[in-house]
Amino acid sequence: YSGKSAGSLLVEEIRRMRVKDLKSVPVVVREETSVYDAIVTLFVEDVGTLIVVSEGGFLEGVVSRKDLLKVTIGQNDVRQVPVNMAMTRMPNIIITTMDETIHLAAAKLIEHQVDALPVVRKIINDQGLEKLEVVGRITKSNITQLFVELGEDK
Ligand code: ADP
Repeated sequence: YSGKSAGSLLVEEIRRMRVKDLKSVPVVVREETSVYDAIVTLFVEDVGTLIVVSEGGFLEGVVSRKDLLKVTIGQNDVRQVPVNMAMTRMPNIIITTMDETIHLAAAKLIEHQVDALPVVRKIINDQGLEKLEVVGRITKSNITQLFVELGEDK
């Protein structure tokens, strides 16, 4: 008998879990992608948030369902308007990394009231500048999935 309550074991398990254990594949578009094509991508990929990247897969921004709705209800031709007109851009993107705890990533989702975080790897380029390579995404769905699994008590 370990002397630990089920509750404290659960807390330990949650604190041990890392973003790399839970992340999903990132669904990305380029910033010149039209709002129309971005909306089609939401349906085809069955996601709520698209990560906008530059050549090489580096983080430029994030575009959500409501960002796309907002430009669509304006007087815009959604086939002509690029997603970069609608997205939230760097450096205002809340990110996470592979080795961050799931608990911290979940706290960021709540604190910043967003549905998804890009998972990035920091890279220093030739000019000594830091770039963020997109390697995954963490969403509220991932966290809900984990909550269900932890509750099943295998
Ligand atoms: P929705 O807008 O569809 O409700 P969110 O709540 O995720 O979806 O997004 C709210 C706003 O925050 C949007 O303008 C979106 O561009 C922005 N946003 C989404 N994810 C992030 C993030 N990880 N970092 C910064 N801003 C984000």
